[in-house]
Amino acid sequence: MTGRDVTGRSAAAAAGPLAQLGSNENPLGPSPSVGAAVGRAVREANRYPRTTALGLRTMIANTNAVSPDQVFVTNGASDALLAIGATHLEPGDRTVVARPTFYLHMLMTERPGGELAFVPTKGLRQDIDGLLAAVDDRTRVLIVTNPHSPTGSVVDQSELDRVVGDLDGRGGETLLVIDEAYREYADETVMPDGVEFVRAGHNVAVTRTFSKAYGLAGMRVGYAIVSEPVAARLRGFMPPFAVNSASVAAAEAAFADQEHLARVVELNRRERDRLTRALSDLGMAPAPSQTNFVIATGLDDAASIVSALADQGILVRSTEADFGLPGGLRITTGTAEETTRVIEALRAMGATA
Ligand SMILES: *Cc1c(COP(=O)(O)O)cnc(C)c1O
Repeated sequence: MTGRDVTGRSAAAAAGPLAQLGSNENPLGPSPSVGAAVGRAVREANRYPRTTALGLRTMIANTNAVSPDQVFVTNGASDALLAIGATHLEPGDRTVVARPTFYLHMLMTERPGGELAFVPTKGLRQDIDGLLAAVDDRTRVLIVTNPHSPTGSVVDQSELDRVVGDLDGRGGETLLVIDEAYREYADETVMPDGVEFVRAGHNVAVTRTFSKAYGLAGMRVGYAIVSEPVAARLRGFMPPFAVNSASVAAAEAAFADQEHLARVVELNRRERDRLTRALSDLGMAPAPSQTNFVIATGLDDAASIVSALADQGILVRSTEADFGLPGGLRITTGTAEETTRVIEALRAMGATA
């Protein structure tokens, strides 16, 4: 396979449309109201934004019962993570995080000269005891991804309570970052609300994004909801108009359309269940997922399955190549047609563990 870029797309010629099941994108796209909102914003593009995304920050703040001053809108959650790293880490400071983890967790740490302390996932879940045991007096940041990528697992309320209690017990000097990029996809009955810890005044930053369930990956909008001391640091760091007005307008329209979000989540649940069952029928032991992707590990021939799928225009991830987890596939849930296509391709290959 040639011409693979960071999103896993391939320049290889493929029959028919690509099934892009590699980057956890939303196959339905954003709310239909986004187009008009962006059009209005572009007609006023000669003007600087009047405020720093105050409308969007207020919507987010009201929904989460925090002050707009605790909400930072950024170019994707990526930029929120980088800003947190830049304002909390100095050379030699450490970030404790699971391995595998999201690339930006590494970049946010290494850019300001920090060091990573990795704690391997256990049974495709973040190892909470291991993460806490790795915290030392140089640890300024601990990251929990909830739900986690690339495993799809959730850290539950009692585990998160334990993390916050432990860090508080050490004096609260270590910032807990809860990366909730996939939270909209998780079942509410098992998914804790990280912002609860912000409201209670703990040293916590929750990052979220419009890239995944809201379908705006290309517009680059994310946000952080943070406790007051973190807000004070970020305020002194962020440029005045960090995010462009078209992207902010897109995010406002998307956030206002919770019916569209519900359709996205419903489609995801249906297709994720179908995909999980089909992988299981093929003998692959997929991990239960609370996200918009499914991971199956323990395969002998994952790399050849990934490249055979790519030859048919179906793009999925090798967990070994992309995340250092040997013998696995990560497949994003797509449309019903895309699910059918990937399932039939796997069946035809006789793909089994
Ligand atoms: C996709 C993702 C993000 C969000 O990235 P954006 O910069 O908002 O596009 C953050 N964390 C994780 C774990 C992700 O998978």
